[in-house]
Amino acid sequence: MKTGKFIYKCTDCDREYSSSEIRYFCPSCSKGNNTAAPPGGVLKTLYDYDLIRKSISGFEELKQNCFCKLMPLEDMRSLPPLRVGNTPLYTVGELNGEKLPVSIHLKDDSQNPTWSYKDRASAIVSAYAAENNLGTIVTASTGNAGSSMAGICASHRQKAVIIVPEAVRLTRLTQIIICGATVVPITGTYDDAFDLSVKATEEFGWYNRNTAFNPLTIEGKKTASFELFEQLRFQIPDRIFIPAGDGVIASGIYKGFEELLLLNLIDRMPVIVIVQSDKSDNLIRNLDLNTFMIRSSSTIADSISVDRPRNFYMTRQYIRKYDGEAITVSDEDIMKAAKMLAINTGIFAEPAAAAAFAGLLSYRESERLSAGSSNVVLLTGSGLKDLRSVTTALKTPSAVDPTIKNLEKLLK
Ligand SMILES: [Zn+2]
Repeated sequence: MKTGKFIYKCTDCDREYSSSEIRYFCPSCSKGNNTAAPPGGVLKTLYDYDLIRKSISGFEELKQNCFCKLMPLEDMRSLPPLRVGNTPLYTVGELNGEKLPVSIHLKDDSQNPTWSYKDRASAIVSAYAAENNLGTIVTASTGNAGSSMAGICASHRQKAVIIVPEAVRLTRLTQIIICGATVVPITGTYDDAFDLSVKATEEFGWYNRNTAFNPLTIEGKKTASFELFEQLRFQIPDRIFIPAGDGVIASGIYKGFEELLLLNLIDRMPVIVIVQSDKSDNLIRNLDLNTFMIRSSSTIADSISVDRPRNFYMTRQYIRKYDGEAITVSDEDIMKAAKMLAINTGIFAEPAAAAAFAGLLSYRESERLSAGSSNVVLLTGSGLKDLRSVTTALKTPSAVDPTIKNLEKLLK
């Protein structure tokens, strides 16, 4: 491994490791990992913040060369050629014709190359692999991570091996296969796919992209914080609503803002609101429990349907440190929010992303958004990724004879 500009710190025991020493979990804290609880030993990537602070005069200088100083890469030209990140932020002034007393900003990450937030992580993983001569990248996936890795690897001429539980829907596999990745469906669950990918990493020397297992996934996911700060004209939003499954996006957003704080570029943190479906709430439900209790997940928001949140301990640390908030919403609310979002903005979000919007709507209904506040919703993926869950909730009109009379009838 070449790079020495960053180190790893274990989330659980605080031990620090050189980045040439290990690549994945903290060896001592991951020893007892089992399927009954989230994994211990997830690493955080740290840079020399004192040195960076002294070397920059402000945000503009930090931004130069794609925030290179805060990236685990030697050269930002190692990044894949597709445009990842720099997604639009839209401001919504009214909903259903009603003027809003608060600002709502939508960060539309469906505009990434494979239509999801996962591309931010895949791009960093792909670039790191290129710099370290790791020709094959493997990941366990239930959909978005796999299609993202497949697309990013195709653009970078790298090999991708995607291990999926056999229950993964065909629509999700299509995107992986069309990009030329090797798909390995296995009998079993995401956990089994995860375990096989780790064994393959050990056996074949492949680079492993698994969320949270590979600490650099968080480095990719933090980049939206920098963009938000700039897009909001260097103001910190009051709240950011984030859909949560494993907790990696929330941790990434926290880490991005925390780094700006460490560099004295901001003086307060936004309040992060993590949003889960009440049918997959293992992260939120366990926040205050001493022993982790898994409840089987079955939400329509399948990209946040998670039994063992892989980044649970880090996310919980951040929530406690920065007074984060959490809310669960029903699947019915998620579908309503998806429709409301589409009708009002033209953005067709995947159910997981709509969950974050449902969280905001719930805050609004219970008058928890103070007048004049600035609120961001992270829209993490496109609704076109998985039409099945949506089509069942929509009424499609039947065909009629092409007459004006029938047209008038339909318009009513
Ligand atoms: Zn440790």
